[in-house]
Amino acid sequence: TTTVHYDEDADVSPLESKTVAVLGYGSQGHAHALNLHESGIDVVVGLRESSSSRSAAEAEGLRVETPREAAAEADLVSVLVPDTVQPRVYEEIRDVMEAGDTLQFAHGFNIHYGQIEPSDDVNVTMVAPKSPGHLVRRNYENGEGTPGLLAVYQDSTGEAHDIGLAYAKAIGCTRAGVVETTFREETETDLFGEQAVLCGGVTSLVKQGYETLVDAGYSPEMAYFECLNELKLIVDLMYEGGLGEMWHSVSDTAEFGGLTRGDRIVDEHARENMEQVLEEVQDGTFAREWITENQAGRPSYKQLKHREENHEIEEVGENLRALFSWGEGADQEKEAAETP
Ligand code: NDP
Ligand code: MG
Ligand code: MG
Repeated sequence: TTTVHYDEDADVSPLESKTVAVLGYGSQGHAHALNLHESGIDVVVGLRESSSSRSAAEAEGLRVETPREAAAEADLVSVLVPDTVQPRVYEEIRDVMEAGDTLQFAHGFNIHYGQIEPSDDVNVTMVAPKSPGHLVRRNYENGEGTPGLLAVYQDSTGEAHDIGLAYAKAIGCTRAGVVETTFREETETDLFGEQAVLCGGVTSLVKQGYETLVDAGYSPEMAYFECLNELKLIVDLMYEGGLGEMWHSVSDTAEFGGLTRGDRIVDEHARENMEQVLEEVQDGTFAREWITENQAGRPSYKQLKHREENHEIEEVGENLRALFSWGEGADQEKEAAETP
């Protein structure tokens, strides 16, 4: 059974006498640092000397040191630099971590795949907000929460769970709910989800749909609207009320067409491929590929990224988005246009 923690079950006091070092001030880093700070926790941000985020952190009243200095001072070190950079940053701080300190992550990759091997005498925890950092921050400022995950990999003091939960509360996650998991489960489901469904699966579906229409002679603009732009409306409905809410809101024709054709598109071959992709996550094949790719200076990554950026749908979309006003800022623009 799933354990979910809310504000009432959580207590920030295990962090109150502690100093927390937040390494990195990017998407998650700035949100964690500011939320912890405003929850009354003593925070020091760890950034390299050359970091362009230094002045932003200082402008918010945060202390900034190097990662090594910050970690030396701290009782809990929250590792929020990019996953590929974390093993290197850990090497800089490993000998200043003391017995009983806590090493905290927002994703399990480096621990689960053995890229960081902390000594036995530190706690290793994960509090992973299930949202981009800017929302973690915005929700906190609005008095709302961001759902999150909590896991303990290593408990050297007997307090690791309480410390993790305190951290989750201090960044606002227990306001929404914090689900207990393990490093393995978080890492494998996160990688599978982004590869098969969220980032990989959905972009391939969009591109294949777009290309099918354009190759059959339909206009690129129509193909863009139908296969990419409208996706948001469908996803919003699923987000609000599950698949049922979406099926309920579309026309009967769309519902019948979708129910009869959907499984022909994402068919048993797609399912077999998903199982293969999951296996590569589970047996470490994907992790090794990504680590090697980084060591080699990311040649395939750069090439694939370039190809994706130059897909026709991107140019069509850019032009259409400039012609129409929708999404963020559209309401304000409309209001401005209506004002005489
Ligand atoms: P970012 O890419 O936003 O991190 C950027 C920060 O890391 C900057 O402050 C940057 O500083 C610093 N940094 C980059 N390279 C180095 C380096 N070589 N040495 C020291 N500092 C460096 O990271 P995210 O917030 O996206 O990810 C952090 C963690 O959170 C990851 O484990 C990720 O998986 C996890 N996570 C991320 C989510 C997201 O939505 N982004 C969601 C949930 C979890 P500088 O100015 O020096 O470059
Ligand atoms: Mg991910
Ligand atoms: Mg339609």
